[in-house]
Amino acid sequence: MYRFALAGNPNSGKTTLFNNLTGSTAHVGNWPGVTVDKKEGVYRKCPEPIAIVDLPGIYSLSPYTSEEVIARNYILDEKPDCVINIIDATNLERNLYLTTQIMEIDVPVILALNMMDAVEKRGDKIDANELEKRLGLPVVKISALKGAGLDKLMERAYETCKIKREGKTVIEDSALKHLIGDIRIALEGQGVLNPTFHAVKLAELDELEVIMHKDTVNMVEAFKRTHKDEIFGEDFEALIADARYKYITKYFSPTLRRKNKDKFIVTPSDKADKVLTHKIWGIPIFLLVLFAIFHLTFSENLFYLSAFLPADYVTLSGTAFEGVFGEGGINAPGVSLMNLMGVLTDTLSEIVAGWLASSPEWVSGLICDGVLGGIFAILGFLPQILLLFLFFSILEDSGYMARIAFILDRALRKFGLSGRAFLPMIMGFGCSVPAMINTRTLADEKEKLATIRVIPFFSCGAKLPILTAISGGIVAYFGVGNVDLITYGMYLIGVITALIAVILMRETTLKGDVPPFIMELPAYHAPQFKNLMMLLWDKAKHFIEKAFTIILASTIVIWAISHFSFSWQYLPDDKMQHSILAGVGQLIQPLFTPLGFGSQLQGFGWVFAVAAITGLIAKENVVSTLGTLASCIITGMIFDVELDGGLSAVTTMIENTNITLPALLAFIAFNMTTIPCFAAVAAARGEMPDKNKFKWTLVFWVITSYIVASGIYLIGSFWWTAFIYLGVAVAVIFGVRAYNKKRFAKDKK
Ligand code: GDP
Ligand code: MG
Repeated sequence: MYRFALAGNPNSGKTTLFNNLTGSTAHVGNWPGVTVDKKEGVYRKCPEPIAIVDLPGIYSLSPYTSEEVIARNYILDEKPDCVINIIDATNLERNLYLTTQIMEIDVPVILALNMMDAVEKRGDKIDANELEKRLGLPVVKISALKGAGLDKLMERAYETCKIKREGKTVIEDSALKHLIGDIRIALEGQGVLNPTFHAVKLAELDELEVIMHKDTVNMVEAFKRTHKDEIFGEDFEALIADARYKYITKYFSPTLRRKNKDKFIVTPSDKADKVLTHKIWGIPIFLLVLFAIFHLTFSENLFYLSAFLPADYVTLSGTAFEGVFGEGGINAPGVSLMNLMGVLTDTLSEIVAGWLASSPEWVSGLICDGVLGGIFAILGFLPQILLLFLFFSILEDSGYMARIAFILDRALRKFGLSGRAFLPMIMGFGCSVPAMINTRTLADEKEKLATIRVIPFFSCGAKLPILTAISGGIVAYFGVGNVDLITYGMYLIGVITALIAVILMRETTLKGDVPPFIMELPAYHAPQFKNLMMLLWDKAKHFIEKAFTIILASTIVIWAISHFSFSWQYLPDDKMQHSILAGVGQLIQPLFTPLGFGSQLQGFGWVFAVAAITGLIAKENVVSTLGTLASCIITGMIFDVELDGGLSAVTTMIENTNITLPALLAFIAFNMTTIPCFAAVAAARGEMPDKNKFKWTLVFWVITSYIVASGIYLIGSFWWTAFIYLGVAVAVIFGVRAYNKKRFAKDKK
């Protein structure tokens, strides 16, 4: 099978093209560096199937970042049959810089001029035929987003891949050209493949090449000596880069005709950026945007309309859908969808319970309480997870998130945090696993380590049921606050914890330079409907798969060990306290006493400890475990509570355990900041070659969650403990200063 590789600058539309060609749903992000690893798919519209490989985005083939090394090694060593060099045609000249390097490799190359829709909208024109002649490479205009020109691109790529091509360079300067020619001949004599590419890189004294071709380096040094007096500076790399740009300006730029050539035009994007990236208002605006999102997802009083409604206002009162769309206020779309899901799962539970009415108690217990109680407790949150995810995707795809990285870089750079590190952190709101993998784009090892450690604090989709269920329980039982405000507040606590932790690490054990953060801000554009739906579909599929595999298995196990004693006797619901799970739970429960959900809860206190621990398998388990156990408590103790999804599971728990409000908040915070799920732990381990660092990372998660959760519980319960925490904070600040002074003094010696 032929293999075609997609290579191009970050954000040039490679993944969009890749998805379009192969029908995949790889993540397209409107910021550079989303694709860190290569991805493969198959294109089937040519006479034979063709493997397409999406390479990470790169600006050049130098070995400075891991993306560059991955892309370079792939093209050189794995020898694709054709390289499709995708170019953001709205930035033609800058994108062609990479092209001048790719064309030095002995591989068929075809140029895809992408984003032609945007070019045409501007009124600019590119003469593709002329460019093709001047480059000596086939050029095809496309729009990956609109799906235009793709068949033609692949048709021509298919023709191109069958013709052998020798690399050629654009370096024109006669002396340099001579040197490159000489090195090329020498390398060819040694049987080196891609001699032109290696010759140019060797002339640049590229780190990798110098190691690979030790014998030939002296040719460059000799050249440098003999031409000492000429215009050449010491820095050959800059010299060659300059030569490339000169060539591009001289030969390729004329193929582009700009409509507004001499005018400096202020685009709508520029105008929006004046406000959205404002020095002072940028961050408050972001916080407001975030709040609006939480309001639309979680609020039971949308736009605070309850003030205008009658006091006893209930939608669809007296029907099965009573209160689904509002009760007292108007429900946000997320809440209405959740309630609808609740109606559905309730009906299903009742039907199943009816079927099993005459079966043995343990069968109906296992199925109704164990399986359905657990799975339905989290399935109800799927709409809200998807909605929140949709909003984040819109922010990302529109180009706004890239601005946030820019704003935060400006604000936090002096604390050792670069904007680059925020991009994986923001990805953590979706799922920690890809976020941790994305840290490969961070060039600095210490920054990477610090970032991986705090990614779990950016609350992921799987933690959302914990947040919603517990906040819902708080509002329903204690009658305080709003669900949207509580969830928003908890998300912010996670982010603030992450920032403080990173700053502390970067000031002490992981001190290091902050790498420069250079990112072009992509132009704002309307998010793509198709793209968003694909992402949502993927997320929903993943969630449901998880619900019916890992979570199903966990709930069955939880049900089983909460219904058997250590002597393997079956226990009915009201004897759950004598079960294996209760025994183990009571054993570990003192550990959680400082956090408010330990020994002080006595009777059923262990359920919170157990729920938190099952969260290590998958964070959804926290609520499904509460759901399973709550169903048992309800049937066992015959409480007069109607069971509808995860919310009332929590209310039941609150009622039976007498857990306090601060303890519930501490419970959320603990789950948000402690060791993440197995999958994320494995990803973190994979990204940390140093196993010692990995061990410390686990310790770090446990300690952080204890500090944050106990802080919330203790200050919330005994306000004066705030002074103790304040004292500790001051001590830490002075401690860090003293530590740095000492270290600095040592460095001086
Ligand atoms: P990659 O970083 O090269 O993989 O680029 P992506 O595929 O992630 O795309 C980056 C951004 O450019 C996304 O917001 C896309 O929606 C947008 N984009 C991709 N192709 C086109 C196109 O043909 N026209 C326009 N206007 N935007 C595009
Ligand atoms: Mg990509």
